[in-house]
Amino acid sequence: MCRHAAWLGPVRSLASLIDEPEYGLLRQSYAPRRQRYGTVNADGFGMGWYDPGLAEPVRYRRAVPIWADANLPGLARAARSHCLLAAVRSATVGMPVEETATAPFASGGVLLSHNGRAAREAVRPLADDAESTCDSAWLAAAVFARAGSGTPLAESLAEVVMLAAGKDPEARLNLLACDGASIAATVWGDSFFLHLGEGVLAASEPLDDRPGWRAVPDRSVVTATTDGVRVEAL
Ligand code: GLN
Repeated sequence: MCRHAAWLGPVRSLASLIDEPEYGLLRQSYAPRRQRYGTVNADGFGMGWYDPGLAEPVRYRRAVPIWADANLPGLARAARSHCLLAAVRSATVGMPVEETATAPFASGGVLLSHNGRAAREAVRPLADDAESTCDSAWLAAAVFARAGSGTPLAESLAEVVMLAAGKDPEARLNLLACDGASIAATVWGDSFFLHLGEGVLAASEPLDDRPGWRAVPDRSVVTATTDGVRVEAL
């Protein structure tokens, strides 16, 4: 399954999630260390960030392996923000490989990535429309519909996970989202870690071997702001 990572704190470049750390998303795309399903994440990648001068977050998504984009290292060094999200994708069998199926999905200032899989019949009824037929795009649309009508981000994620898991008990539903002021995530079926320092680093698996990474228990929801982190059971 895919790998994703997010940062909230002092301004950093996207390279801090991708190719600066030893086990960043670039390395995780071909040699993940904690991935429970799948081996390589070569079906695309994406990154999103918040620019104080723009109303909506900026995104860059490609349906090629992250190592195949020669322009990415320069772009990732120049794209800087207090709030970042990036992902590398291993498409689930039967899902389309296209940019619109690649995280981060975005709407109303929210960026979202999904690490896992869910039956289409379980996720399609949760939203009116989605930009791709990929399971993740439907999950994203379901979260965006809730967050867009005022439900707090973490609550929107939790609600969508419980509905999807209710219809597909085999579903794996690690969602990671941010809105420029907070990070929210669910852990449901795959690994997820937090590292707290001068900001919050959240990732499917540690980006380096520094001490301080802690695994978040399965079946929980995480809310992180610059004031602190809350982990609750789902
Ligand atoms: N099911 C999603 C997709 O096909 C996510 C895959 C993943 O986590 N590997 O893109």
